[in-house]
Amino acid sequence: MIPPAPPESSDELLHRLQRFHADYFPLHQQRFQDLVAQGQHPKTLFIGCSDSRLVPYLLTGAGPGELFIVRNVGALVPPFDGSHGLHGTMAGIEFAVLMLHVKSIIVCGHSHCGAIRTAYEGAPEEAKALQNWLRLVDEALLPVQPCPEALLRTEQRSVVLQLERLMDYPMVRREVEAGRLKLHGWHYVIEEGEVHVFDVQRGDFVPASRSTHSGTGPFTPHVEHLNE
Ligand SMILES: [Zn+2]
Repeated sequence: MIPPAPPESSDELLHRLQRFHADYFPLHQQRFQDLVAQGQHPKTLFIGCSDSRLVPYLLTGAGPGELFIVRNVGALVPPFDGSHGLHGTMAGIEFAVLMLHVKSIIVCGHSHCGAIRTAYEGAPEEAKALQNWLRLVDEALLPVQPCPEALLRTEQRSVVLQLERLMDYPMVRREVEAGRLKLHGWHYVIEEGEVHVFDVQRGDFVPASRSTHSGTGPFTPHVEHLNE
C-alpha cells in the first residue's frame, strides 16, 4: 500500500498510476506476465463509442488479455473504400481479424450518445473532422425532431449500419461466411445497466436479460441461431 496522496498534491493522475502499481498489479502480476510470455490472444474485437460512461470491462466482466478494443466517437465503422488511408479504426479491424484471428466483433453503441445527438444538431464549425466523421451516421438518421425516442432508435439503427459496413471489409465477410467470425450488435442503456442485443430474426434489440444469445449480426447464417 502506498500512503494517501499528500494534501498538497493535485496530480490525481500520478496518484492513480502509483495506486495501480502498488495495489492492483501485485494481485494480478502472474496474469500480466503470462500475457507477456505467451502473447495476447483476445477472442473479441470490441468497437465501442468513446463515451466515458461505456465501460467495456465492466459490461463483459473481461480482464487483461480478453478484449481488443477500438473506440471512437459514435462506435462507427468507416466504409471500406480501398483508400487504405490513415485510419485507426480500419487498421484496428484489420489487425484484429487478420493477425489476432478474433472470433467475435462487437459494435457497441449506447443511450444518450453525444455523437448521435450531434449528428442531428451539428458539430461546432471548427470541428471539421468531427463533421465529416459523423456523416457515417447519416443513413441511420430519422426524418424527425431528435426527441429521446428518435435518438434511441437512431443509436440502435447506427449499430446495425456499422455491422453492415463491417461486412464490406473483405476479411470480415470471408471469416463470417466461413463461420469463423460472429458479429454482435449491442446497445447499452446506461440508466438501466443493461445491454440490449441485436436479434436479426426479430429485427430488433432485445434486453440481454431476456435474450437467448449475445447478439447477432445481420449476416450470421440463420440456421446457426435456430440451432442455438
Ligand atoms: Zn456515444
